[in-house]
Amino acid sequence: MWDQIQADPILVAGAKSVLMQLNEAGFEAYLVGGCVRDTLLHKPIHDVDITTSALPAEVMSIFDHTIPTGLQHGTMTVVIDKNLFEVTTFRKESEYEHYRRPTEVAFIQHLEGDLERRDFTFNAMALDVGGKLHDPFDGQHDLKQRIVRCVGEADARFQEDALRMLRAIRFAACYDCQIDGPTWLALIHHRDKLQYIAMERVRTELEKVVEKSLLSLEHGLRLLVHSGLVSHTKASLSELVTDDQEVLSRVELISDIQAITEWDCALEHDAITRWALLFHRCGVRSEMADELMKRLKFANRTASDIVKLMQLIEWTEEIQHASNQKGVGVYSLWTQAIIDFGKVTASRLLHLLAVDQLFLRRLFNDTAMIGELREYGATWLAALETSQLSDLAIRGQDIVKHLKKTPGPWLGELLKQMLYRVAMGEIPNTRSAILDEVNRVIQENE
Ligand code: ATP
Ligand code: MG
Repeated sequence: MWDQIQADPILVAGAKSVLMQLNEAGFEAYLVGGCVRDTLLHKPIHDVDITTSALPAEVMSIFDHTIPTGLQHGTMTVVIDKNLFEVTTFRKESEYEHYRRPTEVAFIQHLEGDLERRDFTFNAMALDVGGKLHDPFDGQHDLKQRIVRCVGEADARFQEDALRMLRAIRFAACYDCQIDGPTWLALIHHRDKLQYIAMERVRTELEKVVEKSLLSLEHGLRLLVHSGLVSHTKASLSELVTDDQEVLSRVELISDIQAITEWDCALEHDAITRWALLFHRCGVRSEMADELMKRLKFANRTASDIVKLMQLIEWTEEIQHASNQKGVGVYSLWTQAIIDFGKVTASRLLHLLAVDQLFLRRLFNDTAMIGELREYGATWLAALETSQLSDLAIRGQDIVKHLKKTPGPWLGELLKQMLYRVAMGEIPNTRSAILDEVNRVIQENE
């Protein structure tokens, strides 16, 4: 099975070396969890988790470079050739408090006990250095059948750690699985326990659903709505589903799987566009999205990028009217929008306009103006050389000197006005032309 691992050969060699060194020192050691699961699915792996009978202090003494990343849980990070390997001592988690992962764990000597504490059958498989797979709960079968099934009694497992309910949905969404009947019933029964889980951990699981692919986003959203989990988080996310039927009818309408997959590849890992799409498909507006992201403890920068994109989506609704007025063309509106929202946000909007054509139920109205934006938006965007103040051939202090005025809010407004005019091609981007225009505007206003 080792030769089927899809990863940088140096990472695989490093993982093998960690197992061998632990074995040579007299300990058991296995690859475990996501890397084993993903290899059986013929998918690339992104990190390697290792489980061992060695205690953290023993791990530390065997390897030259270790970092005590999660000592109280028995996790040491071993560094080999700049690659990081999380090495965790076999453990069981007997005491759980308030439906959360335990703070204290007991180290044990047997692999089986360690696999038993893991959440789902396909996450409870271990691979030894000789290529033998240890799969006591038949995770391989569930993986083939695409079934998410708790190890042991789902009822007990969700009460031990309520985050597992969200993880069940995450794995179902990301691996295109069904949730096993008893696991699903237990999830519905215990969904109110999700309130004990920190919002950061909720966000991490949601991120994986939203950011994996467009199909996982749709599937995850459907499961979140069906299960009602979104209404039971510590800070409620129920605004995501104001009208269940409405959202469900929206998410089940992807017309062309092949095209959607191509779009996914083109978008790569642009989380910002994916989150904006999620909110938009849920009928959430930018202010509410901002509020929901605060509850989910998003980083400020990420949240503000997502809000900006949502505002630009809302802008497309507003300008339908403006563009009907005489003399206001799509080109000039779009140029202003690029200046106001930035080139990156503008190109994200164009991505959304493109993907929207793949949904049976569109998010954008198919007006002439949207059509024009789809057709020429990217060309206009690429051709726009002056889109931010730093592109101007003049600085604020030059204008201050020229006018002999003290700087104030007027300066920013004036500069923006100059930027619009240069961008629209009304004046050239030279120092003298801009100063002439400044003089003209000042005179006009006096
Ligand atoms: P990913 O590919 O997203 O990293 P993963 O399966 O490796 O998926 P991790 O969160 O990295 O997920 O966890 C590693 C392993 O630890 C899991 O495969 C599972 O065996 C176990 N695990 C993680 N979280 C829990 C939990 N809340 N309850 C029980 N077992 C868990
Ligand atoms: Mg992992």
